[in-house]
Amino acid sequence: MKKDLDAVVERLKAAKRVLVIGHIKPDGDDISSVVTLVLILRKLGKVAEGCIAGEIPWFYKDLADVPLIKNVDDLRDFEYDTSVTVDASELSRIGDAVELLKGKKPDVTIDHHQTNVGFGEIDFYDSAYAAAAVIIYEIGKQLVDYDARLAEINLLGIATDTGFFKYSNTDYKVFSYAAELVKAGASIQRISSAVLEHRTLNEVKLLSEMFAKLHIEEDGKLAWSYVSTEMLRHTGCTEDDAGGLVGEIRSMYGVEIAILFIEWPEGDVHISFRSKNYADVSKVALEFGGGGHVRAAGCSCKGVDLEEMINKVVARTRQALKPDK
Ligand code: AMP
Ligand code: MN
Ligand code: MN
Repeated sequence: MKKDLDAVVERLKAAKRVLVIGHIKPDGDDISSVVTLVLILRKLGKVAEGCIAGEIPWFYKDLADVPLIKNVDDLRDFEYDTSVTVDASELSRIGDAVELLKGKKPDVTIDHHQTNVGFGEIDFYDSAYAAAAVIIYEIGKQLVDYDARLAEINLLGIATDTGFFKYSNTDYKVFSYAAELVKAGASIQRISSAVLEHRTLNEVKLLSEMFAKLHIEEDGKLAWSYVSTEMLRHTGCTEDDAGGLVGEIRSMYGVEIAILFIEWPEGDVHISFRSKNYADVSKVALEFGGGGHVRAAGCSCKGVDLEEMINKVVARTRQALKPDK
């Protein structure tokens, strides 16, 4: 845990041109943290750009200011004096955006993952924060006045990383900051509609196929399923469309750990872990080269066989149901 927020604020105040980088396969917190920090810096009169390598799920683009995020190629000639990563626990999480750092460490890293390794010149990370966007808000409110657009994009990350105020990380601070952001003009309805109500017919078909493959063991405490490339192809879905499905498995009564294996492209498997009350899935994900939080973690394995990975990972995860494993 490294917690000197003043050092981050001072570094940002001194900056003139800033590159803000999020993690690959972005979620709402990542997108929110990148866009919010860019807008804060621009309000302060600085030149700021936001970068996420790879695709951004289409439904986030309905939210104002998300389209300001650029990809790596757009920013190769961007000159900056300060680089910042947000919501990334280690350098590899920013994917090809690492090329923009030209071999140097990020100047500032801002994160809230349990598995953070501290990889910048100035690091701020603390897993007590429910979202990177909560840290961004603590920075932002010291520096600028919040208008409705800034408030709404900042609230996106707080809402999504808390499962819309449901997960155990939904603490007093989350509610009080969310209230301040709503007071400043943010609409939780617009955010929830964009993020939670965008399921296409193809995704519903994928959901039903995923549930058709569901396995339940350990007295109902461990539930897992998979989405193969073949299932994605014939339902007309992409791996992004499978992103939220692990939550559907966890939603079942009595399930403590949910695992979803997503094979995409063939030979690569992304594994999502979710736990409900006590199991630490970040430990399991870490052992397979990934990371994350106690209740939500993941790993991406390249050049592997789906069935073999299922066997290995499910066997290891059974242990995680026991105390201290
Ligand atoms: P996901 O299951 O992909 O939604 O990821 C859940 C959490 O695990 C996220 O908060 C990520 O930060 C983390 N995570 C996912 N994939 C990886 C990975 N390959 N390496 C490190 N952390 C990951
Ligand atoms: Mn994230
Ligand atoms: Mn996050």
